[in-house]
Amino acid sequence: MARRARLFVVSGPSGVGKGTLVSRVRDRIPNLGLTVSATTRDPRAGEIPDVSYHFITEDEFERLVAEGAFLEWDGHFGSHYGTLWSEVNPHLEQGNSVILEIDVKGAFNVRKALPEAVLIFVAPPSLEELEARLRGRGAENEAQIAQRLERVEMEMGYAPQYDEILVNDDLDQATSALEELIRHYETDGGTDQDGNH
Ligand code: ADP
Ligand code: 5GP
Repeated sequence: MARRARLFVVSGPSGVGKGTLVSRVRDRIPNLGLTVSATTRDPRAGEIPDVSYHFITEDEFERLVAEGAFLEWDGHFGSHYGTLWSEVNPHLEQGNSVILEIDVKGAFNVRKALPEAVLIFVAPPSLEELEARLRGRGAENEAQIAQRLERVEMEMGYAPQYDEILVNDDLDQATSALEELIRHYETDGGTDQDGNH
């Protein structure tokens, strides 16, 4: 079947395993394009500028918003985050799918801009497990963990509006499920009678 490049959006609560899943799927589908988001927050230990994020100032961010350079952008935890068109278009133009890892509001903003985008929600097996993963990651302090947990109920409430919900319980199974979803939507099998997805 013919393969066509698609834009995939992966969202879900902080700590659910989005980054882990996306990086594992990219080992299996090497030409899957990943975008680097821009953010005004400070780099965390171990993050690499222009690989983890484009770390920019609030002034630069505002200028890019005014120029229409963002496919979508939003504010979280007192900082701004956004996806630049310049990160997405080169992949699609080369015939490669792109995977964006962004929050629920960003995902629906992408759907508005590009209705054919495929929205995938990654859910935790339980709230206890989500909290354990956040703590286990060791990247945030207690206040930051609490901030992230406060958002979970709101985020989970949007899950039914996604095209697909993927529970990240067993990592190998969830990786395979994400790989299969991507391959499905890239083929004609991912198109319904109305031409959507
Ligand atoms: P996110 O990108 O959604 O914020 P991460 O990919 O950073 O989440 O994962 C958060 C933590 O959970 C990491 O320490 C990661 O190794 C771990 N993790 C991810 N998926 C699983 C899984 N299926 N089972 C157990 N731990 C996981
Ligand atoms: P973190 O600071 O933990 O890396 O990310 C905080 C939040 O910002 C997460 O919910 C993450 O999904 C979101 N985020 C990261 N990049 C983007 C982006 O490009 N656009 C939007 N809207 N949210 C993003």
